[in-house]
Amino acid sequence: MDRYSDIFETVSTHSQKGLLAFWDRLDEAGKEKLAEQIRSVDFVKMEELYSRAEKPVFNENAGGDIRPIEVICAPGKNSPEYDIYEKAGLEVVKKGEVIAITLAGGQGSRLGHDGPKGTYNVGFANGKTIFEIQLDGLFRLYEKTGTYVHWYLMTSDTNHEDTVGFFREHGFFGYPEDKISFFKQNMIPVVGKDGSMLLRAPSELFTAPDGNGGILSALKSTGILEEGDGAAAKYVFVNNVDNILNFMCDPLFVGAIEVTGRDCLTKTFMKRSATEKAGVYCLKDGKAKVVEYTEVPEDMANAKNPDGSFMYGDANAGIYVFKSDSLKKALDSDIPFHTYVKKVKCIDSVGHEIETEAYKFEMFLFDVFGVIGDVAAYRVDRDREFAPVKNRTGNDSAATARELYRRVHKIGMGTIVEMDGDEMTRVVWQKIKEKILEPYVVLNTEYYDLGIMNRDATDDKVTVEAANAIKRLGVGVKCATITPNAARVEEYGLKKMWRSPNATLRGILDGTVFRKPITVDVIEPMVRSWKKPIVIARHAFGDVYAAAETVVEKGAKAFLNIVKTDGTAEIIPVHEFENSCGVLSGYFNEFDSIRNFALSCFEYALEAGIDLWFSCKDTVSKTYEASFRKIFDTLYEEKYREKFEKAGITYFYTLVDDAISRVMKSEGGFCWACRNYDGDVFSDMLASGFGSLSMMTSVLVSPDGCFEFEAAHGTVPRHYKKYLAGEPTSTNPIATLFAWTGALKKRGSLDGNADLVEFAERVENAAISAVNEGIMTGDLASIAKCDNIVRVDLDGFLDAVKERIFTLPYAEIGGKN
Ligand code: NAP
Ligand code: MG
Repeated sequence: MDRYSDIFETVSTHSQKGLLAFWDRLDEAGKEKLAEQIRSVDFVKMEELYSRAEKPVFNENAGGDIRPIEVICAPGKNSPEYDIYEKAGLEVVKKGEVIAITLAGGQGSRLGHDGPKGTYNVGFANGKTIFEIQLDGLFRLYEKTGTYVHWYLMTSDTNHEDTVGFFREHGFFGYPEDKISFFKQNMIPVVGKDGSMLLRAPSELFTAPDGNGGILSALKSTGILEEGDGAAAKYVFVNNVDNILNFMCDPLFVGAIEVTGRDCLTKTFMKRSATEKAGVYCLKDGKAKVVEYTEVPEDMANAKNPDGSFMYGDANAGIYVFKSDSLKKALDSDIPFHTYVKKVKCIDSVGHEIETEAYKFEMFLFDVFGVIGDVAAYRVDRDREFAPVKNRTGNDSAATARELYRRVHKIGMGTIVEMDGDEMTRVVWQKIKEKILEPYVVLNTEYYDLGIMNRDATDDKVTVEAANAIKRLGVGVKCATITPNAARVEEYGLKKMWRSPNATLRGILDGTVFRKPITVDVIEPMVRSWKKPIVIARHAFGDVYAAAETVVEKGAKAFLNIVKTDGTAEIIPVHEFENSCGVLSGYFNEFDSIRNFALSCFEYALEAGIDLWFSCKDTVSKTYEASFRKIFDTLYEEKYREKFEKAGITYFYTLVDDAISRVMKSEGGFCWACRNYDGDVFSDMLASGFGSLSMMTSVLVSPDGCFEFEAAHGTVPRHYKKYLAGEPTSTNPIATLFAWTGALKKRGSLDGNADLVEFAERVENAAISAVNEGIMTGDLASIAKCDNIVRVDLDGFLDAVKERIFTLPYAEIGGKN
């Protein structure tokens, strides 16, 4: 008993006997642990904190001279200060005169993450945690200066071991081990509303970290600024761990303190509204001070400058740079504690776990400004530098942070061919780029304007150039284009009835077109039996699309005249127009093209793991169409039977009319290889059967591995007329959007660009989610089975997609579509 008499005396003097309620039941280790904790408590201080618990720390009525803080605006790229600051900042980093301290004592519990907050995976495809994203900045600095900045992480009792373990386990993520150090902040008891200290367990005092201001006492007790890199530092950069747009030791920021010679700069951003929940800066009696939003008097919150901006609008971003000497001087100072009332889980006097309201006391680092002289705000663009990950959902969540992060760290990409088009889809095209893609991706495209007027102006050379560009670059994305007919020639005053651009592209690329419906839960296929998408492969070469056609006068005789390589001719009679004039078409195909078509179909089916069907009319067309069948059958026997059997999929030939009746009774989930015309027609049938033409994607795959993505639908002229008349249009952008995402995914997977693939999959998922949540354009609204449909126009739908791109962690959507 003697060994512990001191603590009995202490708790009794300070009316905290409850702390020893379970003493007699504790084993020796438990007693030792509790006694040690009690001995470390400053009871007098705790009593003082409790007595002031409900009083505001900042009280304007208490007097004092309140003024706005002096502000240095972060220089824009084109201002002369930019270069001056950056150069100065990089120079001090290079000389090893900057250290970084990150406040990382918190747990990820509010994020639903069990572990230190810094170990939280932000939800990108690369799986990076907050710590790794912070390290990215230090690696960038190393690249620029050749110096590894020493990074100190302030942990807490709760997460110290886990944090250190995390870095060890990952080999410090490639950063030099001796340049990352850890130190613990101090803990302080949590006090019940009646003034009694709480227990977490019979042998454990309920304590919590003493706030980010605890850095001062921790720096003092660890002596970090007295030895090694800490002693050599001229500047100390300090940040909160949770902001993933923080640039560690931002050279502009560090340069600004070096150039201006201040004691401290603190990053701020302008608050958005008078009532925004953010602490703001002011000068009180000449000293910089942050006033918590709960403590800002209303007139101060609303005060405006003559230019309309908030007079006290500089919100604290939690990023500071101190002159090391000034910070050292402040280490001894006594900074105030702020009080929070929080719900905590502790044990009651009989040992039951209860939830109760209690006081938590925290010091704030910015209160050190009361003792540090010359402090200025360094105002930055909030959207570029502030993306905190604090909450599980809503504001300041991982979802909002991912979005902000990607706006700043846009995704780079290899070049793709971009082919613009006509009418409504040209409008959709531009909006998709502006709203969905360009904010997050540095779009790298070789642009070809396949709009009808430019095709006319270039005598359609632009289409050929685009096709050749796809051959060169491997990936293209195309907007729907007008295929002129007589009416279009007149409507647009064209030089001639230009060929279908798609036919030109297919002719040059010699590819196969695969069309796949985009399926959503809320739209049931018209055909009840269809459960899975049916992919249509269209042989996009020759036949009627490349035919020579003519009108034939009455009485004329038509022959096929084939001039052979040896100069001899073979003449085959076609028809005698004895009784009537008529029309004649001569069309062709090539075995190489048919074989390439078959090859792509077998390969596609294998890759997708689905059955392959092929259909034609070999009973009627015993030479022409029968050749198609023969090529498919032969190739299957020679090259694919074994592979198909191994993959558990089948190849199946049937007559085209039999195929169509089987398709209508099937449950889907296969690829249907069709000849050019059949594919053209049946794909539209399938599109409307699955929901809508606007939900059909299309990709042309060439035998040499080039990919051209587009929507299957046309230029939607009826909507375009409404658009031109200024009416809102409910054009569905999904198929065009998926053309873009298809191209980005292909480019990304060819280049090993995981960020790009992730982004494209996010966009697809966002579009599908929006529809499944009931937000859809008119075409879908009329066929969807869904109770809460919100019918939106084109812009409304794209906004809904945009809102959802970053909502989910990538792990939850990867590879879903
Ligand atoms: P379309 O543009 O596909 O439009 C046909 C109808 O389908 C539209 O009037 C509309 O119905 C509905 N629709 C199609 N896409 C839609 C979308 N994204 N959102 C909502 N509804 C949609 O076909 P078209 O009118 O036969 O052809 C128009 C032009 O497109 C022609 O000049 C043609 O040459 C060209 N075209 C180009 C391609 C291509 O480039 N790949 C393909 C086909 C056609 P409602 O009017 O009932 O709303
Ligand atoms: Mg068609």
